[in-house]
Amino acid sequence: MGRVFVAGSINMDVVATAERHPRIGETVAGEAVLYFPGGKGANQAVASAKLGIPTTLIGRLGTDAFGRELRAFLAAQGVDLAFVKDTDGTHSGTAIITVANADNTIVVVPGANGLVDADDVAAPTLAKGDVAVSQFEIPLPTITAFFRRARAAGATTILNPAPAKAADKGLLDLVDVLILNETELGVLAGTELRDNDAPSRFAEAARALGRGKIVCVTLGKRGVLALVGDQPLLVPGHEVKAVDTTGAGDCFVGALASQLATGKPLRDALAYANAAASICVQRMGAAPSMPTAEEVENAIS
Ligand code: ADP
Repeated sequence: MGRVFVAGSINMDVVATAERHPRIGETVAGEAVLYFPGGKGANQAVASAKLGIPTTLIGRLGTDAFGRELRAFLAAQGVDLAFVKDTDGTHSGTAIITVANADNTIVVVPGANGLVDADDVAAPTLAKGDVAVSQFEIPLPTITAFFRRARAAGATTILNPAPAKAADKGLLDLVDVLILNETELGVLAGTELRDNDAPSRFAEAARALGRGKIVCVTLGKRGVLALVGDQPLLVPGHEVKAVDTTGAGDCFVGALASQLATGKPLRDALAYANAAASICVQRMGAAPSMPTAEEVENAIS
């Protein structure tokens, strides 16, 4: 069985709730402050580790209180943190979120995440059968270096190009499996897509990126559309009562990576990832809502 290596971001999300948002220059009294471990790298690593697959996170934290808390949280979820470096002179990635009337404003400051470099991703030794995963919250040249090494070792590379931004062909050519939502697909394919477009529209856009790789377009409750070569494969989602879809995409990516590491065929791995993400959306939060293998097996059977 292979292992999963995630090179990515680790954040503390600090959420303040208030009755209304302040205007510029104004101070309003809030109601509560909540702290959520996050960052796409951390979320995806937690999703994979909780499913029982050996999972190593590669990243950086500051030497601050959030860094210590994030390390303790991730360790408790079973993520191997031997390649998460504490870095002086910066802070841990932090998102400052205000929520009022169901609307939010978010300021994300990458801090240590912005310093993850080619030496960091070269530190662990990957082997054939391992799965290397990354997202767009660490520098893109670092991801390119990571995937180049992973490919040379015979590992499978998975890119989740989120948050959406354009990527150069050099990086995309190193990707075996691309997992992205409609917005990210639109940005990479250079075309405007909407949530409720027909699957054939997504397949057409995915084809533009698809040469030599598998493209998986996550479609919310509709499930996932995978393009393997030229063949579209729609794996339907589970009908559930969603309460919070934060982290659904991260759960899907971590779960798919974990199942590909076990050697499962793609169709089965996609069905498993849909089931895992459908559990995630029934709970509040991102990292804390990732399911266990037992919960996913129950949802499938
Ligand atoms: P993102 O959060 O990145 O936009 P999606 O919304 O496409 O990603 O969700 C990722 C996956 O989570 C979907 O492919 C699906 O498996 C699952 N999912 C998302 N929303 C729901 C929902 N309302 N009901 C069931 N499954 C869902």
